[in-house]
Amino acid sequence: MGPGPSDVSERVLKALSQQTVGHLDPSFVTLMDEIKSLLQYAFQTKNELTIPVSAPGSAGMETCFMNLVEPGDKALVCINGVFGGRMKEVASRAGAKVTALEFEWGEAVDPAKVEAALKADPDISIVAFVHAETSTGVRSDAKAICALAQQHNCLSIVDAVTSLGGIDLNVDEWGIDAIYSGTQKCLSCTPGLAPVSFSQKAVDRIKARSGKSDSWFLDLNLVMGYWGEGVKRAYHHTAPVNSLYALHEALLILHEEGLENAWQRHSQHHNALVAGLDSLGIKMLVDADIRLPELNTVAIPEGIDDAAVRSALLQRFDLEIGAGLGKFAGNAWRIGLMGNGCNKQNVMHCLSALGTVLAEQGHDCDPAAATTAAEATYA
Ligand SMILES: *Cc1c(COP(=O)(O)O)cnc(C)c1O
Repeated sequence: MGPGPSDVSERVLKALSQQTVGHLDPSFVTLMDEIKSLLQYAFQTKNELTIPVSAPGSAGMETCFMNLVEPGDKALVCINGVFGGRMKEVASRAGAKVTALEFEWGEAVDPAKVEAALKADPDISIVAFVHAETSTGVRSDAKAICALAQQHNCLSIVDAVTSLGGIDLNVDEWGIDAIYSGTQKCLSCTPGLAPVSFSQKAVDRIKARSGKSDSWFLDLNLVMGYWGEGVKRAYHHTAPVNSLYALHEALLILHEEGLENAWQRHSQHHNALVAGLDSLGIKMLVDADIRLPELNTVAIPEGIDDAAVRSALLQRFDLEIGAGLGKFAGNAWRIGLMGNGCNKQNVMHCLSALGTVLAEQGHDCDPAAATTAAEATYA
């Protein structure tokens, strides 16, 4: 129950262990096509260019910037946590002139400030932000920010690493131009792949580049020769065949459950967890209207030893929760309820284990009352 990787189901692990076939084997090409259409479903898009990049979420980020940015392009990067900061770093390495728009730790990106920044500099052509900031547990209004990007003739780049499969996300309806995710958060697949999707406008921009991307591996003009349409697929790199078996299975599981049901499940177990934490006297650090159900940032109670609690949870209760990151280091925990790990059993186990350890450290709380409070939300 940390900030990822999340629990991988037996079904996905079994898929992972199937015999490796050639990366151009006809049966594998069929599987690739299925992955593309299952990803289109997960992203809610008809975008042709919807594929998993053969590397973790950060490589999805780099794929977007290395393909869409030409040296000197102006990019507005919104920063309300660690991953927005990483976007800024990646954008500038790709050659962008970055305007950083910073927000307080624990707050959402403010669309009004995005609009003001776009009005102030009409040369900005890219707007980038994180939909679900895993370092703080905050959700930003992706729909509103992408609408602003469109109004100001900019392409939007959206980090959906922690949002995909966990909260409401609709690429086509929201007019998102470039989006990347990761397999190890709410998709509950093994780490190491980055689903991405690009609108026609983004693809046109990539095709019209005046110079090649500085990255050979992530150059979509080349990668499309392998993942593209038609039978004439050519070797670019050897695909991580078994990881793709696993992703295929994880996406099938999501499809079987249904996206809306998955979002609903995250919200339901989040509500139960919050009720239990409240009973333990643990405060949520993020306002309810911008909270991520899949990543719960909570204040460490006064006088409690952060590292000792996390270590006791791990050693005695086989339970991982995340430490605070950045400005939250030492004063917050991050409790994940992602994908396969988002279930009632985990909520109850976490409340009971955390309550027990905190009580031992002298915090005034009752673990049994916490699980009862959580239970009541399911009624
Ligand atoms: C985890 C995460 C990433 C990076 O993904 P990796 O798979 O660790 O490279 C990027 N953005 C956000 C919001 C994340 O939570």
